[in-house]
Amino acid sequence: MVELKSAAALDAMREAGRVVAQALAAVRDAAGVGVSLTELDGVAREVLAKAGATSPFLGYRPSFAPVPFPGVICASVNDAVVHGIPDGYRLRDGDLVSIDCGAHLDGWTGDSAISFTVGTPRPADAALIEATQRALDAGIAQMRAGNRIGDVSYAIGEVAKATGAGMPADFGGHGIGRRMHEDPHLPNRGRPGRGFPLRPGLVLAIEPMFMAGGQDAYDVDGDGWTLRTADGSRAAHIEHTVAVTEDGPRILTLL
Ligand code: MG
Ligand code: MG
Repeated sequence: MVELKSAAALDAMREAGRVVAQALAAVRDAAGVGVSLTELDGVAREVLAKAGATSPFLGYRPSFAPVPFPGVICASVNDAVVHGIPDGYRLRDGDLVSIDCGAHLDGWTGDSAISFTVGTPRPADAALIEATQRALDAGIAQMRAGNRIGDVSYAIGEVAKATGAGMPADFGGHGIGRRMHEDPHLPNRGRPGRGFPLRPGLVLAIEPMFMAGGQDAYDVDGDGWTLRTADGSRAAHIEHTVAVTEDGPRILTLL
């Protein structure tokens, strides 16, 4: 069932989204060569705690997962696409890092992700991140009443196609509200004019995941969580929580 959110609910979701943005900004500030993923998780925990927010990631256990998720961020480095567990790995010069974070505040949820490089970026990584951002922007631009889910999916998929990027087929965006994952599912490829109609109050987490090698194939680590490109190429993941409003798309996870 798809729940359309009231204007008051959107304002409350904006506050949850603001906490996510603050946590991501703090993590990005703290990230650098030699800093561990556990330390970055600690930075995000502090921001959430100070805001009185809880983490929808911590302890999360979907059906595919063998263990509850142990962090408040997902930290996916280089060939890791999404769902990386923040561990003792220390960032190295040139690493491509994707950080996903959520916050639950006053009954509402925000979900957002950023990708960035540490130290000296490889030109190909900068281009991959830029293309992923362009796909997110293209998807957000379609978040208008009268459009359909397929318009958002198609916009993302077209940027992937033009870039030559692969995307993990079974993963995409999702409805979000009181819970992190709600209906409807938002595929990262689709046909324009098809699928669930977009109405004011619909909120989606839009999250393109680009794999530089161009294949859709991925592997899952032995931890049961971390998704990696099957060809070892690098990946980027960027996400915003976005509402359809009478006045067009409203991004709820901006700083
Ligand atoms: Mg996320
Ligand atoms: Mg999400």
